[in-house]
Amino acid sequence: MNPTTHTIPTESLVTTMSERMATLTRTLSTWMQEQEHTLAELEHHVVRLLKELGASLVADLCTLAAPADPTPSIACACGQQAAYQRQRTAQVTTLLGSISISRSYYLCAACGQGQHPLDAQLQFCAGSRSQALDELLALLGATQDSFVQAAQVLERLTLVHVSANSLRDATEQLGALLLDHPAQPPCERLSSTQSRVRTIPSPNRLYITMDGVLAHLHERGWSEVKVGCCYHTQVRQDRKRPERLEIRAHSPSYVSALEQAQTFGWRLWQEAVRRGVLSSEEVVVLGDGAHWIWNIAERHFPRALQIVDWYHASEYVWNAASAIWGEASPKRTAWAQAQLDKLWESKVEEVLLELQQWRAQGEAVEAAVSYYSEHQRRMDYASYRARGLQIGSGSVESACKQLVSTRLKQAGMIWNADGAEAVAVVRAWLKSERWEEAIALRGVRRRGYRRKQGAEEAEQHEGHEQGAQEQASLAGEPHRTAQQKLSADVLAQVQAELAAQRGKNGWGQAGSVRRQREMVAQRAQPKPVSTA
Ligand SMILES: [Zn+2]
Repeated sequence: MNPTTHTIPTESLVTTMSERMATLTRTLSTWMQEQEHTLAELEHHVVRLLKELGASLVADLCTLAAPADPTPSIACACGQQAAYQRQRTAQVTTLLGSISISRSYYLCAACGQGQHPLDAQLQFCAGSRSQALDELLALLGATQDSFVQAAQVLERLTLVHVSANSLRDATEQLGALLLDHPAQPPCERLSSTQSRVRTIPSPNRLYITMDGVLAHLHERGWSEVKVGCCYHTQVRQDRKRPERLEIRAHSPSYVSALEQAQTFGWRLWQEAVRRGVLSSEEVVVLGDGAHWIWNIAERHFPRALQIVDWYHASEYVWNAASAIWGEASPKRTAWAQAQLDKLWESKVEEVLLELQQWRAQGEAVEAAVSYYSEHQRRMDYASYRARGLQIGSGSVESACKQLVSTRLKQAGMIWNADGAEAVAVVRAWLKSERWEEAIALRGVRRRGYRRKQGAEEAEQHEGHEQGAQEQASLAGEPHRTAQQKLSADVLAQVQAELAAQRGKNGWGQAGSVRRQREMVAQRAQPKPVSTA
């Protein structure tokens, strides 16, 4: 086949597009003149037709990006030359709908590896979704109430129809990438990805706070998603009571994961380092009474001032008051208030002495004694207030609601662990105002893709495009060329992702005994699909 028959010269494209636009305009003009239409009807038609016109333009421009006459051979990663074979068409779903891109296909006789240079240049895989569409899918998947609703919103906004599973897939892929991404100080991150990230000044005082919230999982039942928040504070006049100053959280950033405290501690530590914990004059860790919080504080932030959340501490007073006096007794309020006044003034010893007298009144009193004894050194509230420190962990509690509860805990929702964690982590980056950074990270990963000989041969044998399965067949070790210079952790991410891809696909993709074994191992651990 003559390669030049598939390339479209610029002037030919200009003519074609002009003709299409003219046809569109004529059709719409006739339609408007024939009978009365509303502006809304007109908008609807114009948007739909322009989208179709746009899709054809994108497809043609992609083809135009390739050389008009494909070179007879190009370099192969093995060091030999790959020879031009023919033009092949790939389907890609984009922001403008599904498009077909014609591109040159080369095959290396020495190592059997095939390649489409245009795919690498434009950074797409045949049968896949474009990165621009994937970004929108992940954004909607993480922010809408459900993946089904996200698909509906996407269709209303872009007229592109994708399945709820595509939204889940895009959200989980981005989540998995972000979860594996090591936090870097802002300056390093700027140089490595050249993203437009605001530099974050080192604060004099950095707050670190953490909490957990339960999500319902197929595999493990109710499980704790841990949330951490790093922020600075701003002091300003209280709107309602101008004589008072209020201390408000400022520029919060979040981490979120479904993991053990030990691992989460490192994750939060990385974020705190990114936020300047090592150069902060003062570090404050705020939390409720959960032991894992204080273990992380001791291990990762040994010089931090530890403060137990005032509201959790108050709750124990109220519970004890109810046990001692009964819910309805007026003495309950007076007694509780007196104890809270003492706590407010750091007189924890006095509250403990008072509670000792009522120990026979039940578990609530006992719980208060044990809580105040354990956390006494974290309850010097008079001193904290005098120094203008925040004593409430409201920032992280609000984060738990925003990152986890509002999306993961809607009525009847049961998740698979990967899906729940992905959504929580994507929301964490979004709420941390790091969306552009998150999206920029994907580019690094995609460039690592290379097709493997086995998959190539299978395709040759079938003699047609594998469509959606093609991306999944990109198995095996990525080539380590000098150009790619993939760092060890990016390689690890690619490999982990490829392993995950294998698990998601059918037996038809198995190309070797090794892969068959891997797939058997993966099948042995059924992975329920979330109902969200
Ligand atoms: Zn080769």
